[in-house]
Amino acid sequence: MRPFHYSRPPSMVEAVVEMRDVLAADPHASATFLAGGTTVLDLMKLEVMQPSRVIDLTALRQEFGYIRRDGASFQLGAFASMAEVAAHPDIIAHVPVIAQSLSLAASAQLRNMASLGGNVLQRTRCAYFRDPSWGACNKRVPGSGCAALEGANRAHAVLGTSAHCIATYPGDFAQALLALDATIVVVGPRGSRTLPFAALHRLPGTTPHLETHLHPGEIIAEFIVPAAPWARRSLYLKIRDRQSYEFAVASVAVALDIDGGTVREARIALGGVASVPWRAGEAEAALQGLPLSDESARTAAAAAFADATPHAHNAFKVALGQSTLVRALLQVASMEPAP
Ligand SMILES: Cc1cc2nc3c(=O)[nH]c(=O)nc-3n(C[C@H](O)[C@H](O)[C@H](O)COP(=O)(O)OP(=O)(O)OC[C@H]3O[C@@H](n4cnc5c(N)ncnc54)[C@H](O)[C@@H]3O)c2cc1C
Ligand code: SF4
Repeated sequence: MRPFHYSRPPSMVEAVVEMRDVLAADPHASATFLAGGTTVLDLMKLEVMQPSRVIDLTALRQEFGYIRRDGASFQLGAFASMAEVAAHPDIIAHVPVIAQSLSLAASAQLRNMASLGGNVLQRTRCAYFRDPSWGACNKRVPGSGCAALEGANRAHAVLGTSAHCIATYPGDFAQALLALDATIVVVGPRGSRTLPFAALHRLPGTTPHLETHLHPGEIIAEFIVPAAPWARRSLYLKIRDRQSYEFAVASVAVALDIDGGTVREARIALGGVASVPWRAGEAEAALQGLPLSDESARTAAAAAFADATPHAHNAFKVALGQSTLVRALLQVASMEPAP
């Protein structure tokens, strides 16, 4: 690890001002925020990230570590830990997809350290990205190429890829937020703003090194999850190479509003198969107004992967992703939703 300047501002305002001043002095400064550190410190040790400045946000946990509920929504402070939110009785009862997506992620130790904000901003696990001895990685070194295109790409994405990057978005919680139409509140040098969670991540396109639509110096402060009817009948199904402490090979966050056996609203997001948290709009449309049956679930799954672009080693993800979605839909349809 290389030397860096470390600070731990005591409040949101001071953190924002500090990053603003660093960027004003040098817009290309390699400064980073740190929350739980479980992504940042890993990547610093691997020398994938080499920040000259680390602004530690852990003091914000006191102010932004809350889990709140009112009639219309759940409000989750971005510095609440994954473990706290996963274990919260209201979350388990009323938005099970959130509790499940968090409790099926990483390990108990990591979930205790890691924050919600850091979780949604974690970086890809593409082995070429994480190993600087590989020269070709557009995400790590813009314009250098993509070693995964002709390399080992079993773990890579089949949806939302580009000719410049086929890396998979690795997180779980993001799919739950996407399916539930969550919004986020961010605070930055230009004040605070609210944006749909769906607008946070960027497709790789020609610039895979740009991963989000956050403005420089912005901090995620809060996630707002609507307490909609489909949230209570929701589920996260995660398929991985081993049953614990492993990233998704394919996953599905699904939330349904069913009336007398007919789908009024379906909300579906896919993980492990796409370059960003992936909303399966075509699958949702295919289900609307229909009884949820094996047949309608299969039609929806086919629609979800109609535009898939597999590579040499990951074609199996199309069939696996479809069967994961069918299983999740049938499972959630038979659930007794929380009152
Ligand atoms: C072995 C291992 C297995 C794992 N398995 C899984 C898994 O199965 N599923 C899964 O979802 N995750 C998994 N993870 C990833 C883990 O969940 C993330 O590393 C963690 O959630 C990141 O949170 P953090 O608070 O530690 O973030 P940090 O490492 O502190 O930060 C991550 C990134 O977010 C930025 N950041 C942090 N908070 C904010 C904020 N509030 N506003 C703006 N920027 C911010 C940082 O600058 C950094 O770029 C695994 C990690 C490891 C090491
Ligand atoms: S898939 Fe993306 S992250 Fe992986 S080597 Fe290619 S450009 Fe880099």
